[in-house]
Amino acid sequence: MIRTLDAETRAKIAAGEVVARPASVVIELVENALDAGAETIRIAVDGDGTARIRVVDDGCGMNEKDASLATERHTTSKLSDADDLETVETLGFRGEALPSIAAVARLELTTNDGGERGTRVLVERGQKNVSPAGRGRGTTVEVTGLFEERPARKKALASPETEFARITSIVTRYALCRPDVRFVLRHGGRETLSTPGSGDFTAAMLACYGRDAAGQASSFDTAQVLSVGSERGEFRIDGVLCHPAISRARRDHIHVSVNGRALAEPRIRRAVSEGYGTLLPDGREPVAVVRVSLPPEWVDHNVHPAKDEVGFRDSSVVTQAVESAVRDALSTADLARSADLAMDLDSSLSARGEESVFDDVAVIGRFRDLYVLCEAGDELLIIDQHAAHERVNYERLREAVADAGIDAVEVDPPARVRLSAPEAALFEANRETIANLGFSVSVVGSGTYRVKAVPAPLGRAFSPTALVDVISDVAAGDASDPRDEVLKDLACHPSIKAGDQLSDEEARKLVERLGACETPYSCPHGRPTVLALEEDAFVRGFGRRSGRRG
Ligand code: ADP
Ligand code: MG
Repeated sequence: MIRTLDAETRAKIAAGEVVARPASVVIELVENALDAGAETIRIAVDGDGTARIRVVDDGCGMNEKDASLATERHTTSKLSDADDLETVETLGFRGEALPSIAAVARLELTTNDGGERGTRVLVERGQKNVSPAGRGRGTTVEVTGLFEERPARKKALASPETEFARITSIVTRYALCRPDVRFVLRHGGRETLSTPGSGDFTAAMLACYGRDAAGQASSFDTAQVLSVGSERGEFRIDGVLCHPAISRARRDHIHVSVNGRALAEPRIRRAVSEGYGTLLPDGREPVAVVRVSLPPEWVDHNVHPAKDEVGFRDSSVVTQAVESAVRDALSTADLARSADLAMDLDSSLSARGEESVFDDVAVIGRFRDLYVLCEAGDELLIIDQHAAHERVNYERLREAVADAGIDAVEVDPPARVRLSAPEAALFEANRETIANLGFSVSVVGSGTYRVKAVPAPLGRAFSPTALVDVISDVAAGDASDPRDEVLKDLACHPSIKAGDQLSDEEARKLVERLGACETPYSCPHGRPTVLALEEDAFVRGFGRRSGRRG
C-alpha cells in the first residue's frame, strides 16, 4: 500500500536532484521494477533517451488507487516512518522518483496488480489523468519528451552515444549484480544487451562481457560473522571474478552492489582491486562482480541524493572483508588450477624441452602484430600467431584430458538456457553424446532447458550457455570424436587475439612450441598456421639470378 510520508521523515531524506540525465530515469525505473520483484525487465531507449525511455516489468504491479498515488510527491509503499529509514531493504524509499520524472517529462504509467483490468496514469504538464487500461500483471512506464521544457538541462547533455553508453553501463551493472533477473536493453529498436536471468553469474558475465571474460571467470560465495563495536552481524560477499588475464585500464569494470543496490562505490572497488593485488599487472584493473550484504542497520543508503555512495557504520571492516574475500577466492583450488593451465601466452609457452621442428628457425620480426616472420634456410616462414597459439593450446588440452578425462561440475543453481527451434532439434538428436561430454540437461519447456552440470576440463568450467556451441560442434563434426570438437572450441577462446603485441622472446617461444606440436602446420580447425616463401620467389621478383649475392 502506498502512503504519504510525514514531514519528519521527509526532512530526514537526503534532498537533491533525482533526474539529472536520461540515465537517472533508467536507474529509478529499473530500481522500481526490481523492488516490485520483476523477473524480466525490458528497457527501450530512443536516441539519447530524452525522446523516449520505456521500462516494462513483470513485477507485482499496482492497483488503481496506488497507481494514482505513485506519481505524487513523497508517496511510497516502502517506508512508513522515519524509523524504517534505518532498516530499509528496498532500493527506493523516498517516494520521489516518479514525481520528479513527471516534473521534467511526460510520464505514462500502465500497471496491473493481477486484477481484472489495469490502470493507466498519464502525467503531462502537471495534469494527471487516470483511466482503465488493458495490461497483464506488471508495470510499464514510458517517459517521453524529457527536458523538453528545460532547455538548459537538455543542452548540458553529452552526445546521444555518450548518454546511451551511460544507460548501458547502468543496465550492465544491475544485470551483473542481479543475474537472477532477465534484462533486455534495446536502442532504437535494436537489442544491445540481453541476459538470461538464470541466476548464474557466469551466464550474466557472458552476456555482458563475452566469451573470453566469461570463460575465465569463477564465482565465489562467502559468509562470515563480523563485529562492529559490540554488535555482531552476518556478512555475505559473493559474485564472480575474472581471471587476472582479463583486465581493464579502469575500475569501471568492478561491479559492486551493497545490500542489493548496484552502485559505483569507490571504496569497495578499491578493496576488490587490492584483493587481486600483484596478480594484476601494474596499472591494470580487474573485471569482477562483488555483492556485499550486511545487516541493514550497518549501511546508510541515505547519504547521497543519487545514491552513488553509501555510508558504512565502519567502512574499514567492510573493505577489509571484501579485500580478503577476493584474495581468498582467487587463491582457491579452482582458480589456481585454471591459472596453471591458463592459455595465456606466458603459461602455455613455458618451455617443455621437446624437440621442435622449428629448432633451426630464427625469428626475424613481426608483421602488423599478426604474423611472426622467421628465417629458415632458404625459406621465409610466415606464422599466423593466433592460429599457432590455438594449435599449442589444443594439444596441451588434449594431452591433459587424455590423462585425466573431462570432469563435470554442478551448476548451482541450475542455469536456464534457451535454444532456438533448430538447436533444440539438434540437441534432441545428440542427447547421449552431449551427456557423455559432461552436460546434464533437462527440458523445461518451449525452447527452455535447465543445465545442471557442465564439462570442466582441467577445472575450466564451460558456461552453461556454451551448450549452444557444443550442440553445433557435435552436429557439425562427423561425430567420430565429439569430445575432440569441444576441446578444439575451448582451445580457441583465450588464444592470442589477432593484433596482440608479442615480445621477441614470446614470439620465439611461440614458434618453438608450435614446432613441438604433433601437427604444427594447421590450427585445430584445419586452417594453416605457417606459410613458406622460397627464396626463389624473391629472386624472380627482383630479377636476380639464383644464388648470386651482392
Ligand atoms: P520509491 O521507489 O522511493 O517508493 P517512486 O516514486 O519511485 O518512490 O515510486 C512510488 C511508489 O510507486 C513505490 O513505492 C511503489 O509502491 C510504486 N511503484 C513504482 N514503480 C513501480 C513498479 N514498477 N511496480 C510496482 N510498483 C511501483
Ligand atoms: Mg523508486
